[in-house]
Amino acid sequence: MAKAELMNYEKALEQFEVVIGLEVHVELNTNTKMFCGCRNDFGDEPNTNVCPICIGLPGSLPAVNKRAVESSIAIGLALGCSIAPTGRFARKNYFYPDLAKNFQTSQYDEPIAFEGSLDVEVPSGKVFTVGIERAHMEEDAGKLTHIGGNTGRIHGAEYSLVDYNRAGVPLVEIVTKPVLGAGAEAPELAAAYVRSIREIVKALGVSDARMERGNVRCDANVSLRPHGQEKLGTRTETKNVNSLRSIERAVRYEIQRQAHILANGGTITQETRHWHEDKGATSAGRPKSDADDYRYFPEPDLVPVQPSHELIESIRATLPENPADRRKRLQAEWAFADLEFRDVVNAGLLDQIEETVAAGAKPQAARKWWTGEIARLANTEDKEIEALSVSAADVAELAQLVESGKINDRIGREVLAAVLAGEGTPSAIVAAKGLEVVSDDGALLAAIDEALAAQPDVIEAIREGRMQAAGAVIGAVMKAMKGQADAARVRELLVQRASE
Ligand code: ADP
Ligand code: MG
Ligand code: ZN
Repeated sequence: MAKAELMNYEKALEQFEVVIGLEVHVELNTNTKMFCGCRNDFGDEPNTNVCPICIGLPGSLPAVNKRAVESSIAIGLALGCSIAPTGRFARKNYFYPDLAKNFQTSQYDEPIAFEGSLDVEVPSGKVFTVGIERAHMEEDAGKLTHIGGNTGRIHGAEYSLVDYNRAGVPLVEIVTKPVLGAGAEAPELAAAYVRSIREIVKALGVSDARMERGNVRCDANVSLRPHGQEKLGTRTETKNVNSLRSIERAVRYEIQRQAHILANGGTITQETRHWHEDKGATSAGRPKSDADDYRYFPEPDLVPVQPSHELIESIRATLPENPADRRKRLQAEWAFADLEFRDVVNAGLLDQIEETVAAGAKPQAARKWWTGEIARLANTEDKEIEALSVSAADVAELAQLVESGKINDRIGREVLAAVLAGEGTPSAIVAAKGLEVVSDDGALLAAIDEALAAQPDVIEAIREGRMQAAGAVIGAVMKAMKGQADAARVRELLVQRASE
């Protein structure tokens, strides 16, 4: 794949206005699939959670999962949408091996939720209102695994395996209106929007919302138009970008790629594109016109969904606090400065810190671990923090070990690395490796005397009031005790020795 030529980002924004549009698929965490009683768990052995309905055998009859409908209504309400009093399902017809039925049961012109909006804060602190066009229910397709070739994609593969466990898993697709006016912050807004959707569906309890597992998937549409032009430019749709960071990078890349083409008199092809994390680039997928004809028609085997007013209002009454209010409340409870709090929000660590505090850690300690060492380790491993195997309970335990003086920060970092390596809980690791800070005076004095023997001038210096000389001895003691000496106590003992 040849890397396309890109225009400098600032220059691109001087010349063009950016328009984005986001389609987010949220996988619901119902017990069973959308239209049949198969278990909604595609982590099982391939093709074990399948039945005549979800693979569309002739004569099988689907029935709608009530909880999936309620979850969809909850999502719609949380996004400020109106809920349709009646909505038909539709068949979206196409052939692909991951779709045994040869049509996807979806909603077309009668989505369950429509016309909402979501306020999204970007890292600079600006808030953009994103219009929600609709949220509709549909079923997921199966999963293809392409074997051979080296791209993992169908092109160049020798053969493909298909697993229908995911076929029929309930999805809600949330589609924004075109978002104008974000300018240079469009990439950040795209990522922050998806993060907000994730926060909302997690708070609602309707999805596990793990991006790395594909519970939340995003297609990012991007177009440019010269400033002042009314007509929207031609968009590309980058498919299934599966981390927040990739969304931001993909949008930024498309802006620069399209700007280069347009500025050189070229035209943008309306097409789907694929994001390549390793190359930091998108590549062309298939051409996609607005008039792609899926021969949608109303699903004859399902009655329309007609949620009663009472049902809608009862769901509305149980909606959790909206994420913006929650942020305000948490910042006040934790007494974080604006900048500290913004860092936490931008890193998507609110839940983790809330859980860590609930597990007994002080808010500042929880913040320092999550935004500091844990974020750093995630970054060095090129992973999302959520993909690391460290729980809020682990971090709370770690924070308490430091707080109580059993270990210091430096040992704490070592313990954390061991937790990530799956060696156990922090207390267990500290016990097993004997990492507790040594504050036993006998042991410390022995190490001090040894260090003083090597640096006899230090005692005299301290007696003369030159305390900076103590550093060398403290350092030597630390080194001798593998960093586990209680530094404050070493200093005290050293001063005592000097006054003897
Ligand atoms: P499709 O079937 O092609 O996926 P959808 O209506 O589901 O179409 O989604 C298209 C998305 O692209 C929406 O979020 C819409 O707001 C957005 N969009 C439409 N036109 C443009 C454009 N010119 N530039 C950027 N985004 C656009
Ligand atoms: Mg779409
Ligand atoms: Zn089934």
